Amino acid sequence: MDHTKFREHAHKLVDWMADYLDQAEDYPVTPDVEPGDILQQLPDSAPEQSEDFETIFDDFQDIIMPGMTHWESPNFMGYFPANKSCPSVLAEMLTATLGAQCMSWLTSPAATELEEQVMEWLRKLLDLPASFTGVIQSTASTSTLCALLMAREQASDFRINDEGFQGDEHMRIYCSSETHSSIEKDVKIAGFGKHNLRKIPVDKTFGLKPQALEEAIREDLENGLQPTAVIATIGTTGSTAIDPLETIGDICARYDVFLHVDAAFAGTALLVPEMRWIANGMEQADSFVFNPHKWMFTNFDCSAFYVQDEELLIRTFAILPEYLKTPEDQRVKNYRDWGIPLGRRFRALKLWFVMRSFGAEGLRKKIRQHIELAQGLTTQIQEHPDFELLAPVPLNTICFRFHPAHISDEAKLDEINEQLLTRIQQSGKLFLTHTKLNDRYTIRIVIGNTNVEKRHVDNAWSLIQSFSSKLIGG
Ligand SMILES: *Cc1c(COP(=O)(O)O)cnc(C)c1O
Repeated sequence: MDHTKFREHAHKLVDWMADYLDQAEDYPVTPDVEPGDILQQLPDSAPEQSEDFETIFDDFQDIIMPGMTHWESPNFMGYFPANKSCPSVLAEMLTATLGAQCMSWLTSPAATELEEQVMEWLRKLLDLPASFTGVIQSTASTSTLCALLMAREQASDFRINDEGFQGDEHMRIYCSSETHSSIEKDVKIAGFGKHNLRKIPVDKTFGLKPQALEEAIREDLENGLQPTAVIATIGTTGSTAIDPLETIGDICARYDVFLHVDAAFAGTALLVPEMRWIANGMEQADSFVFNPHKWMFTNFDCSAFYVQDEELLIRTFAILPEYLKTPEDQRVKNYRDWGIPLGRRFRALKLWFVMRSFGAEGLRKKIRQHIELAQGLTTQIQEHPDFELLAPVPLNTICFRFHPAHISDEAKLDEINEQLLTRIQQSGKLFLTHTKLNDRYTIRIVIGNTNVEKRHVDNAWSLIQSFSSKLIGG
């Protein structure tokens, strides 16, 4: 493809993109396909001869699009959103076009220095401690793995990096029973072993019980084990529960344990001052992660990882083979030493575009709007005699179930709520997901899509009510 052709196709694609964004809410949120439907339309091998862009693009429209789930649709209210916005998409187009690999300062000085500055902008916007230094990672899973590796190296005085586990370390990691599954994965990868992850019980808000944490740490110490790190969550994935950071921080300080804060989704709420209570005690954290790619209108992937001790992070990861040495090494940040992969995409650009295009005020307005819409729906669900909330709603994620007065059997309630969710998904008009809270089948609704408005929320609530009344023949 020459550049004349590229220009021509790109113009057409941009028109297609704008049309898609205009129409996204009219698509069924989930596609009507069975496993294998897409695969069987794809040839077994790559083409030997060049194909026209028109042909490729036709196949994109005919084969790929009918198999897409429309995360862009404002009727997508499942999981947590993977947010994006037009300025972020435009930046991604430039990032792709530049094709820069931003592992060292020298491999793109502007990418490194922009990353340094946007992470500082973001730190200030979220009112994070001035002692935090930020770096962009791919995901919260990776950021938390970095934190655990830092904790491991700090606790072993960098011995494990050099010699590996000797078998006599017995390092222990703590999190709540509501913590995201990525923590267990990270604990396995970091070599601690998942039997050394202690899941601490939660209270009725689903936040970690600090007293139980302290007891677990004490018990481990008495048994000659080494309490190494605590992962506190601000905004759990199930119900956006808030672990009591301040008390957890005091415990970590008392026992000299590394504290990592996972706010993958809810961190964005710190943009608005009235929500900052969720981060009280943050100054005691050793590291903190949140994903602008979840709720801050920035395309996946973009995970903001902050640490108190930059030296500890770099010492954990730095490696300097001859071919990576550059004359500026002493004077610049080389982000390859700030995480796991060597190669890095130019992700700071989209954050820069987003923060400038929305402005802090625009970002805050969106977040407030989402929280307000969710709080409005929460009241409606709470006041409806046939529905009940199953968790507090501190932010914009509502956990509820259909609970008609005449049904009290828990197994039956699980069953009808599962059916309700299936009917909703099959309609293609709304996409919700579920979790289990206190062992009950729980439907989650998250109001956080970039373009969600009141009419979408009202529509979701009408659909939920109408599907549920049909379910019991009402
Ligand atoms: C989504 C989520 C994660 C994982 O995020 P990735 O960026 O997909 O790795 C971790 N923790 C919490 C609390 C989450 O909500």
